[in-house]
Amino acid sequence: MLELQGIAVSPGVAIGQVLILDQEGYRITRCQVAPADLKSESERLLQAIEAASVRLDVDREISSRTLGKHVGQIFSAHQQILLDPSLQNELLHLIRDEAYSAEYAVSTVFNRYAQAFRRMGSSIMAERALDIRDVERVFLEALGGHPTEDRFDKGETGVLACHDLTPGETARLDRERVLGFCTEIGGPGGHTAIVARGLEIPAVVGLGPFLYRLRGGSTIIVDGYRGRVIVNPDEQMRVQYLERREDRQSRAAKLESNRDLPAVTRCGTEVSLLANIEFPHEVKACLARGATGVGLYRTEFLYLGSANEPSEEEHYQAYSSVVKELKGLPVVIRTLDLGADKMGHKPLSEQEHNPFLGLRSIRLSLRNPALFRTQLRAALRAACGGNLQIMFPMITTLHELRTARMVLRQVHDDLCEEGIEVPNHVPVGMMVEVPAAVLMLDRFLPEVDFISIGTNDLTQYTLAVDRSNEYVADLYMAVDPAVLRLIKTSVDLARAHGIDVSVCGEMSSTPAYALLLVGFGVRTLSAPPSALPGVKHAIRAVTLEQCQKLAARAMEFETAREVDAYLMSHFATLVPELALGV
Ligand code: PEP
Ligand code: MG
Repeated sequence: MLELQGIAVSPGVAIGQVLILDQEGYRITRCQVAPADLKSESERLLQAIEAASVRLDVDREISSRTLGKHVGQIFSAHQQILLDPSLQNELLHLIRDEAYSAEYAVSTVFNRYAQAFRRMGSSIMAERALDIRDVERVFLEALGGHPTEDRFDKGETGVLACHDLTPGETARLDRERVLGFCTEIGGPGGHTAIVARGLEIPAVVGLGPFLYRLRGGSTIIVDGYRGRVIVNPDEQMRVQYLERREDRQSRAAKLESNRDLPAVTRCGTEVSLLANIEFPHEVKACLARGATGVGLYRTEFLYLGSANEPSEEEHYQAYSSVVKELKGLPVVIRTLDLGADKMGHKPLSEQEHNPFLGLRSIRLSLRNPALFRTQLRAALRAACGGNLQIMFPMITTLHELRTARMVLRQVHDDLCEEGIEVPNHVPVGMMVEVPAAVLMLDRFLPEVDFISIGTNDLTQYTLAVDRSNEYVADLYMAVDPAVLRLIKTSVDLARAHGIDVSVCGEMSSTPAYALLLVGFGVRTLSAPPSALPGVKHAIRAVTLEQCQKLAARAMEFETAREVDAYLMSHFATLVPELALGV
């Protein structure tokens, strides 16, 4: 039995056979070999090198003949990499001395080389990284591997273990077959974590290197509540987890019975509980959990989920289906927040050193007017079907807000000129997720209909902590006093200007934090559908005065840990039935 500790990012317990994926989506059926098999494993590797070399010969010949000698040379270069003696020695060393399987040795070494090239930063070096990946693919195929999608199509069910999953890959996971996942890298606030919560797949990230310790087919437990992963659990542990899972599930089912009750405090203060979604199909989960609208529709997932750039019609179909299904309830369409950890099928920007500080979000939309206009046209058309609102992400300067609004106005005028029906007025808001926006909020507020505080990015940008980096995960805390001051300032200013303010960052999904936000004066919270029953239960259990006291006291602490400890312990006295751990 092997126990590992990582970062819990999506609640739930998954138990099943482990499905190990390497970087490029190849199934590595086993990572280590028995001492008795080391010799034959080395021979297998050498045979694969020969087979891969023959395959590259054939590729070179065919492409030289059909496309010209210069194309054929690409395969000669690949062959040189493959036959490099120092590479072969490194692979043989990993097999003989570390007992790696041939596939795992190839995957580990090529991954390291590809990353080294990518880190060099220039586009020429990034192309070398792609060459390395090509050789790896030929190598793994010579070892008998197939890309994983085929494997999944054959219907294997289990718990995924891999180095990393992008948000797009996570979104494409087959919920029926992937019971949970765990990764070596990743942080608490990354979009992979957010998508996992949306799909309700138990997940643990940031475990550090552990794949080499797994063997395909072993049983694995992913504890998405406490961030633990247990490989080959003994019977007692397995039974313990099965019982915990059942207990959690029955408590969740009980909470969900509050679906049709209002989110109102004991003293009568109403709070709107809206849902965050990434895909139209999540509307069902929103309604099942009693959401009274969609407070954040992350539309960029339309890009991440498809092979081509979505057309205006595809955008329109997605938005109008959500708007129509919600029958007049508000739907906040956030314009594309691509970039950083959410890249589409083809990167819209060059490789960046600091993608979270780079051409991301509204910056990327403004730099790609055709892309932005396509989306805005679709959104305005869909607005006729219900209560649609448009929100711009990551607004940092007034110039960005004004430019985005200007493009929206032009698109509106164009549609009117073309005789296409659009509403006269569609509410327009901005996300507040960059400290600069908070500092300038008094200037922004007269120019918007609403604001929504994105605590995921506000935490990242205030504390200079990468939200998807496991090394600094302990610093990534939305209740850090610095972040709380910015949230409170934003709420106070918005209320003073009579502008609606909501919080749509993940902070809203933790019941204790939700009460703090209510104490600050927030009356609209937006969270993943699965979190809504718990948040509603907490709101219905307290008075506004209790929330205000909680908030006032929380503001007196000096460190995030103190705030968190206070909120959790006080929450346990206010709503004891929710505070029970597993
Ligand atoms: C946020 O930053 O809090 C937010 C809601 O947006 P996202 O998580 O998609 O960046
Ligand atoms: Mg954000």
